[in-house]
Amino acid sequence: MSQTIKRAFRAWLDIALWKRVILALMLGLVVGFIWGEGAQSIRWIGDLFIRLIQMVVVPLVFVTIVSGIIRMGDPSKLGTLGVKTIGIYMGTTAVAITIGLLLAALFQPGAGVDITAATPGEVQEAVPLGERLMGIVPSNPIAALAEGNILAVIFFAVLFGIAVLTIREDGKPIAGFMHAGASVMLRITHWVMEMAPFGVFALIAWVAGTQGLVTLVQVVTLVLTVTLACILQLVVTHGTLMRFILKLSPLRFFRGVKDAMLLAFSTSSSSATLPVSMSVAETRLGIRPVVVSTVLPLGATINMDGTAMYVGIVSVFAAQAFGIDLTLIDYLMIAGTTTLVSIGTAAVPGASIFLMAAVMDTIGLTPGQIAVVIGFILPFDRPLDMMRTAVNVTGDLSVATAVAKWEDELDEEQFNRN
Ligand code: ASP
Repeated sequence: MSQTIKRAFRAWLDIALWKRVILALMLGLVVGFIWGEGAQSIRWIGDLFIRLIQMVVVPLVFVTIVSGIIRMGDPSKLGTLGVKTIGIYMGTTAVAITIGLLLAALFQPGAGVDITAATPGEVQEAVPLGERLMGIVPSNPIAALAEGNILAVIFFAVLFGIAVLTIREDGKPIAGFMHAGASVMLRITHWVMEMAPFGVFALIAWVAGTQGLVTLVQVVTLVLTVTLACILQLVVTHGTLMRFILKLSPLRFFRGVKDAMLLAFSTSSSSATLPVSMSVAETRLGIRPVVVSTVLPLGATINMDGTAMYVGIVSVFAAQAFGIDLTLIDYLMIAGTTTLVSIGTAAVPGASIFLMAAVMDTIGLTPGQIAVVIGFILPFDRPLDMMRTAVNVTGDLSVATAVAKWEDELDEEQFNRN
């Protein structure tokens, strides 16, 4: 008997993880539809999985950044790495918003939609940009680690890494400790990922059973616009970047990142996906640790192509539903504010909902109207969040590949093995 169980267990582990996750996703969908609200009772399995993976994020980010900088050996390289990274992050986000706004203007998802019956949602104030920038410098690094304030953790880790480099021989013990720490955290990530099929099954069953999948039908044009925008951003923007700028195969790229995409889709959280993004970047895409450890945590925090796109589309949707005519200046205002808003959006499920207010404010919606739009969007936000989070995470990985290629930190042999 125990032999049979052992054999079954081994056979299960032999199936590629992404196949097990896809299977779980499909089963979850079926079970959710049949079980309906009852699927709420297994949500805890999904939440437990997300907690396990989030547990890894802060220590992983800290030790891998310090270890990556030490391995880089030359702190001056950080400057070019940082400038390139932020430049491409901004560039790809700008393309994403343009795609979103063009499609929203073309398909008019809000035309004729009556949203006035929606119960107004709660509008939370966005943190002002100045305050957020100030928060990057932690007044207490231990508190930043404890609160999971990733930008502040990145700031302290970068300084720490540079300091270890500059004390040369004396820094060796800490360097060894950090390199080992990075390997340990990645090992834990691999273990936790073995839980992914169960977590994904529970999360998808819960979404399918309890979230507004049926109400999606009422806003079919909005859903189609968001879906098409996500597909275009993945295929056209990142496909073009791979094929024509980096001269790499887009297909191999997507094959390499599928685990991270599936996890982003199931958890709706870029931050929970970060350990897996870092792992696939290194082991599947062949991106060297120095780029993985600096570019990806920053991306999970500030680069959100899918979110930017979504916030832009919903703003245009709201203007159309309220009969507000938008001028070119309005579109530019939406694009500009959305770029900033997407930087300020927390990488957790549903975060962008509360930050839309800032963007809608710029095109003249009243606080009352904004609350109605948010109340209207909330019931079916989760499925759309799943899509935009997958786009956010893929964007981070694509930019990391570009930076690695330009900095000569990409192992193309490894990349081409996908
Ligand atoms: N869930 C998204 C993310 O984690 C953020 C959002 O758009 O709500 O990337």
